[in-house]
Amino acid sequence: MVELKNVDVHYKEGGVDALNDVNLRINDGEFVFIVGNSGAGKSTLLKLLTRERVPTGGRVFVNGFNLSKLREGKIPKFRRSIGMIFQDFRLIPNLTVYENVAFVLRVTDRSRRFIRQRVPYVLNLVRLTDKARAYPSQLSGGEQQRVAIARAFASDPGLIIADEPTGNIDPELSYEIVELLKDINKCGTTVIMVTHEHDLVKYFGGRIISLKKGNVDFDDYIGGNNEGQ
Ligand code: ADP
Repeated sequence: MVELKNVDVHYKEGGVDALNDVNLRINDGEFVFIVGNSGAGKSTLLKLLTRERVPTGGRVFVNGFNLSKLREGKIPKFRRSIGMIFQDFRLIPNLTVYENVAFVLRVTDRSRRFIRQRVPYVLNLVRLTDKARAYPSQLSGGEQQRVAIARAFASDPGLIIADEPTGNIDPELSYEIVELLKDINKCGTTVIMVTHEHDLVKYFGGRIISLKKGNVDFDDYIGGNNEGQ
């Protein structure tokens, strides 16, 4: 569960109020699009959810952690409960697709047996089994993002945060990326996706949270154009 209670973020530099008295709640298992113009506060919101920033006022709860009170030493444990997907993929260039996914499991001390089962499972989920031995530079942008999705999901986090995941890939492949995130969501993982792409949001529909100048401007469900297809 993600909950923001009366959250303010004020940046001293520039004297900007990036978020003003924001209240929102995202329950476990939801899929939410976060939209808003540049400067609306989307990145600031994500930084709160990953505990890169603490709010100037109010409280933030994510996956059972009270982030306003989280001690520095507990941050790594908290971060392991979140899978992150970025616009620029952030794969490790000198590791194969398989190794990129296995790496996150190794650093969290998963057993070899678990890794041998889990990595092929998640690569199959994103339909990249045949690319397991390839390096990121040998893949298209869409394929690299599918590896990043497999990596984010590998440790079975309760929450996946995708920050403009379709920003660097061909528009026609963007739909496939969202479909994969929807598949992962169906497995029970909460997905929060920030996007600029109105066409995608209209196509898929669902819960949309729109930020405008640091406020929640719209938070409701819309029907998608893909319904009935
Ligand atoms: P978005 O991701 O929707 O484009 P941001 O959260 O990046 O919005 O920014 C919200 C507001 O906060 C903007 O006015 C931006 O200029 C300001 N801002 C963001 N980061 C900082 C920072 N580190 N220091 C000062 N101002 C910032």
